[in-house]
Order: sequence, then structure tokens, then C-alpha cells
Amino acid sequence: MSKVQKIAVVGGDGIGPDVINEGLKVLDVVAKKHGLTFETKKFDLGAAHFHKTGEVLHDATMAEIAKHDAIFLGAVGDPTVQSGVLERGLLLKMRFAFDQYVNLRPAKLHPGVTSPLATKDPIDFLVVREGTEGPYSGAGGSLAVTTPREVATEVSINTRSGVERVIRYAFELCVARGRKKVTMVHKDNIMLHSGALWKRTFDEVKREYPNIKTDYFHVDAAAMFFVTDPARFDVVVTDNLFGDILTDISAAITGGIGLACSGNISPDPKFPSMFEPVHGSAPDIAGKNIADPTATILSLAMMLEHLGHAQAAAEVNAAVAKDLATRTSGRSTTDIGSAIAALI
Ligand code: ATP
Repeated sequence: MSKVQKIAVVGGDGIGPDVINEGLKVLDVVAKKHGLTFETKKFDLGAAHFHKTGEVLHDATMAEIAKHDAIFLGAVGDPTVQSGVLERGLLLKMRFAFDQYVNLRPAKLHPGVTSPLATKDPIDFLVVREGTEGPYSGAGGSLAVTTPREVATEVSINTRSGVERVIRYAFELCVARGRKKVTMVHKDNIMLHSGALWKRTFDEVKREYPNIKTDYFHVDAAAMFFVTDPARFDVVVTDNLFGDILTDISAAITGGIGLACSGNISPDPKFPSMFEPVHGSAPDIAGKNIADPTATILSLAMMLEHLGHAQAAAEVNAAVAKDLATRTSGRSTTDIGSAIAALI
């Protein structure tokens, strides 16, 4: 019997609990097959919990989540809660507190999936988005709110150590995955201060990896090339905001947001990493059993790999690939989860 690993499960809002249930269905099957033991604990967080208690995420709950080996999360966000309250109070709070400075978002077009792009080139690259700094740090403030003199600032925080560690992670990932090139994306012609720090750090770190090709694009050019020539990307490293936007494009060109997975990774093992689909709570389709759970199941595979179960992860990925290759339309959330589980 393998060592027990503890997973904190947060279904969250909207379609979150539904897609997470399908992920857990697959986890159960793959764990049994590989003799892995996971202890899952559900945390009832999100809009309903907020309405009931007036709290988003209590420090005691955080401390309990911190004792887990990983977090498996559906989605947070609900139209009944002011925008940002749950996203900042839950999602960003965990990303920051657990120092999940790598937001890894693979972009892969699977056989059988239709891309809206005309290109027949393979699309298979990895976006390493910085997760704890940049414009999402929360630094800033408001003055004279609701008056004609209102002032609002949103400060992008970039530290040498924070930038260097995520750039180094991208190069190490490139080596580990047998990839060839790391492309940095920023906007150093306009964002002079942070851009200079990112560019200088990238140029210094890349000297340690003479066998890896490198490239740089401004974010606007990168957005264009994601659409016109995605095959030029292999590993992309960028800041929090640019990465957030670019990975909606990479999701769109690889079959849509229902297939896009992600990991909020803390390479320091003392913190749990968190795995979640790129999509949000999708309130427009919540409770209809039509959300695609594939992004969540692919995120589960990332979690298994992170926890040291490469073979189990590969098997989940292979089952998803098989399902996508023969997929018919009109299947429900539970149909898709059960089909993938059955393929394992
Ligand atoms: P949030 O505020 O939580 O981000 P949102 O609706 O603004 O929610 P998403 O949840 O990312 O943002 O959804 C964007 C669109 O994509 C929605 O119209 C939704 O129906 C669709 N969508 C999102 N996730 C899925 C999914 N897993 N399967 C099918 N469609 C999805």
C-alpha cells in the first residue's frame, strides 16, 4: 500500500462541484488501478458559504487546507456576490499564501478536436504564468470613491527574486520535458520598469541554458502569433495579467475553455499546490449537467504528476485523448466523466 496523500477538495460555485465530482470519479478508478491511496476532504467554500457565514475563507480553514498535499478546485465566482470578493478572498488568497508562483497552463490540440484556426500545424506548448506578483498583487488603492475626483491605482509588483524564480522554472521545465525553446512575453517598450527587470533577468538566466533557444515578444505580438502561428511556441513565460489573457486565447485555439487545465504550483513541498480548470463557474450553464469536465480531469492528471504518480497521470491523459478522438456531441457532464473513467 502506498503512502496516504491528502487532497483538499473545493468544488466551489456554479459548475465547479459538478466537474469536480467527475474528476473524483476518475481519481477513484485510477487510484484503485495503481494501488494509490488518497484521503479526500471536501471544503464547502464559495458563494453559499459566504452568504451563510459572511466569511469567504477563515484562517482556521486555511490552516487546515495547508495540511494537505494538494488542492483540487472547481471554480469560484457567483453573480450574487460582488465581483472579486470570492476570487480574491479564496482563489488569490490560496495562491499567495501557499506561494504558488507558477501557474502552469498547457495548450495542446488533441486529435479529434476542432480548432477554429485554419492551420494544420500541431499546437502543443506550455504557458508558465507568474502567479503571485504583477498587477494581481493587490497593491494599490482608491481615493475619493464615487466623486468626480475619484483616483484608482493598481500597482504591478515585480521583485527580482519573484521574476527570477519563475523564469528559472520555465527553463527547468523546458529541460525536463525535452522541449527546445523558451519565449518570454512582456511589454518592455511601454512598461519600462517591470519590463526592464523581466528582460534583464531573462537574459541572465538564459545564459545558464546554452542548449535552449530563446525568444521574446511584446504581449500584443504574442496574442497575434497565438492565433496566426501557434507552432512557434514551445514554453512561454510571462507575468500574471498577460498570462491570464493569453491563456484564454490558447484555450480557444485548442478546443475551448472546457478542455483547458491548469496547476497553481508551489515548487516548495511545504505548501500544497492547487489544480483547477482554467474556466470559471459558468453560471449560465450551472446545474444543467452540460459542462464539460475534461479540463478538470486533465487538471487531475497534472495533480497526479505533481504528487509523483507519472504513470497514473499518463493514463488519465491517454483516456482523455481517446475519449476526445471519438467524441460525439450532446453528452452530459456525467456521461463524459464516466466514459473517461471507463477507459482507464
Ligand atoms: P466566472 O465569473 O466564474 O469566471 P464566467 O461565466 O464569467 O464565470 P467562465 O466560467 O470561464 O466565465 O465561462 C465563460 C463561458 O464559457 C460561459 O459562457 C460558459 O458557458 C462557457 N464554459 C465555461 N466552462 C465550461 C465548461 N466546462 N463546459 C462548457 N462550457 C463552459
